[in-house]
Amino acid sequence: MAKTRYVYGFDEPATGGRELLGGKGVGLAEMTQLGVPVPAGFTITTDACRAYMVARDLPDGLEDEVDAHVRRLEELTGKRFGSDDDPLLVSVRSGAAVSMPGMMDTILNLGLNDAAAEGLAARTGNARFAFDSYRRLIQMFGEVVEGIDGHRFESALGALKQQRDVQQDTDLSADDLRELVETFKAIYREEAGADFAADARAQLLRAVRAVFESWDTPRAQVYRRAHDIPEDLGTAVNVVQMVFGNKGERSGTGVAFTRDPSTGEAGLYGEFLSDAQGEDVVAGIRTPQPMEAMRTSLPKAFEQLISTMRRLEEHYRDMQDIEFTVEDEQLYLLQTRAAKRTAAAALKAAVSMVDEGLITREEAVNRIDPAQLDQLLHPMIDPNAGLTVAAKGLNASPGAASGGIVFDADSAVERAKAGPVVLVRWETTPDDIHGMIAAQGILTVHGGMTSHAAVVARGMGKPCVAGCDDLTIGADTATIGGTTLREGDVITIDGGTGRVFIGEVPLVAPQINEDFETILGWADAQRRLKVRANADNPEDAVRAREFGAQGIGLCRTEHMFFGEERLPVMQEMILADTEAGRRSALDRLLPFQQSDFEGIFEAMAGLPVTIRLLDPPLHEFLPAEADAVDEKMARRIRALHESNPMLGTRGCRLGLLYPEIYEMQIRAIARAARAVQERTGDAPLVEVMHPLVGFREELARLRDLTETVWAQEAPEIEHLVGTMIEVPRAALRADEIAEVADFFSFGTNDLTQTTLAFSRDDAEGKFLTAYLQEGVLERNPFEVIDIDGVGDLMRIAVERGRGAKPELKLGICGEHGGEPRSVAFCHELGLDYVSCSPFRVPLARLAAAQAALKEAGSGAYVAAGG
Ligand code: PEP
Ligand code: MG
Repeated sequence: MAKTRYVYGFDEPATGGRELLGGKGVGLAEMTQLGVPVPAGFTITTDACRAYMVARDLPDGLEDEVDAHVRRLEELTGKRFGSDDDPLLVSVRSGAAVSMPGMMDTILNLGLNDAAAEGLAARTGNARFAFDSYRRLIQMFGEVVEGIDGHRFESALGALKQQRDVQQDTDLSADDLRELVETFKAIYREEAGADFAADARAQLLRAVRAVFESWDTPRAQVYRRAHDIPEDLGTAVNVVQMVFGNKGERSGTGVAFTRDPSTGEAGLYGEFLSDAQGEDVVAGIRTPQPMEAMRTSLPKAFEQLISTMRRLEEHYRDMQDIEFTVEDEQLYLLQTRAAKRTAAAALKAAVSMVDEGLITREEAVNRIDPAQLDQLLHPMIDPNAGLTVAAKGLNASPGAASGGIVFDADSAVERAKAGPVVLVRWETTPDDIHGMIAAQGILTVHGGMTSHAAVVARGMGKPCVAGCDDLTIGADTATIGGTTLREGDVITIDGGTGRVFIGEVPLVAPQINEDFETILGWADAQRRLKVRANADNPEDAVRAREFGAQGIGLCRTEHMFFGEERLPVMQEMILADTEAGRRSALDRLLPFQQSDFEGIFEAMAGLPVTIRLLDPPLHEFLPAEADAVDEKMARRIRALHESNPMLGTRGCRLGLLYPEIYEMQIRAIARAARAVQERTGDAPLVEVMHPLVGFREELARLRDLTETVWAQEAPEIEHLVGTMIEVPRAALRADEIAEVADFFSFGTNDLTQTTLAFSRDDAEGKFLTAYLQEGVLERNPFEVIDIDGVGDLMRIAVERGRGAKPELKLGICGEHGGEPRSVAFCHELGLDYVSCSPFRVPLARLAAAQAALKEAGSGAYVAAGG
């Protein structure tokens, strides 16, 4: 068997693509092969990482390959690794197949030691630069390899600046930095119990191990779980010749986007720091300048950057996010990748790129993440509210959020259980990831648009205001524009404008723009699945239609029995001892139901409306026993008590036990249909749906009841009668049930509950959270369909149902109907439609189109770069 090869130079062809080389490695290799200015280097493959994970040691042969590639680097650069005179310095950077910003570790300036730092100083005539690089190496190596707390180094740097009475790192002299190196070495020795490794080769190999190890850190695991990244991908390691942005005024470093990552507008967006190394920008320690500053300070490199960016966008046919460094006016690109962008930017960029002829409409549809569309559908701050802005920062990630402030990630998780929180930090680090997930929004003092907080929040679709200078954080207080706040005090942030307000602020529903409509129009042309909405009242029906719903897939009629005028009558019905008593109350409920149905039918004119008859156990309409108004009510509450009400007298069982209830509902539906037909000239398309059916006989009887009442009220109006599939037995006996059904609608909330024997009311607050944390289950089955279990039952129901009745209409109305992966599964199953809440309709339209495109062979889009 041929020996596995673990290392590839950027200029060497490798066939494994991003899976093998990681996103960053592939990007560097492609850029090298395109002739873009990239420093020389090589990539250690993800195969090596996986082998390391198994053996907890570098695999055989890897060290030799690394040595050989270091020698090649020496030849290419004319410098020597470990030399005292003109040392070759390298960076070691992680890079997985899927981008995990800031989640894993990077070490810069490897190859320096006391002698090499002197050599570098002499060779460059810049001692300041040499010792600045050296102190950074000791800190990064200490943090990443030895796990030393970075604050130890930061405070030593802070103390030195204070002593010298200077503001900026760049104000420190060469001698100051020499002194700082000694301090850092002492910290290193104290914390690690050994001296900082002087040997360049040892530094490199230890750094490679540390990057492999960083794949498994808790923060990386949390990030992977939050973003559904498989555990066994592993990371590649890139060893790259160092280029220096911290060599003085003719050098610098920055991050740039080919289009605005917030809005998608064409143009140049980014940030630049002169005389600095890359991590200064990313960590948000110094607040950078806008790109325009570079146009004047480094005009030649600026022009070259612009033309290179244009080339990269044309090559990758997507918006790029680029890291670059200028060393003595020479431009180098360190990374390019598909830019993380807000939903608005994703839409704008996709539409513009179609207009520019860069991509097709199908590609544009495939490039939008359906879950991200949600961002556009979230509330924003009411522009007309007269508000006092307490502070202003950068508009790092759009959307508005209110919540009690918390100062650390653990408190965010804790307090978020009781209500919304906003995480307030100097800056965020990857260790804060769990707090960022728990918070509604993020506010930071430091950092730019490309800081950790900004990038991660944007990816999560959470509001973020960064670089907020008017905010200071004390031991357990925050002062915002002069007002001092404590943990739990409420603030509101507007990530779209960067504004911060004290207290809660009125929010408005979001505006859907033209790009949104354009992309969804293209999506509609691709999809086969229809998308309906779950709506119980005329207002929701109108909104659903605006969002593009093609009908109502679930109108839960029980919601119509609440409200001041209705609930007492409903209770009277439940408390009645006789059928006559129940009928008298039902007669008074009928007009309410009828008028609600009329409103919904009119809102949905021309589109089908599925009305589901009463489903919940009756006790849900009565108060707790202690709140009963009299003994009769208390007795009834006791009598209705069941140990497992969700498996009890509910759904069609109620309809069979108390047929007068369903009779009234069917009568109200039929009368409403007739009234609407008389008023508008068009009959609504009514589908009467019976819940929780498990036996053919249940539906057969209820169908008879439906037809009898319908014939009395609206014999001339066509309608369908069908059932939800919510219990495994119904799925298994779908052929028999189909004989008496015109349609099935999968109620996957209950079908999940009944198939998994997970209580939908309790599981998430109890064992399910632990199951997800411990990895017993990968996903919450109430969110994403359990394809292997529940999905299999659905498949059986489809096959058997359609086997018995080919024209059987099939849909889904459980929560899964608005979840992209579940929508894709429904497409695969060949359902006719999915139904979801109105706000998720656009997302379902897009997900359905992507499923159709995938089936047609235009696979999911894979972003470029790492
Ligand atoms: C379901 O069970 O999936 C469903 C849609 O019905 P409900 O959530 O009202 O029980
Ligand atoms: Mg149900």
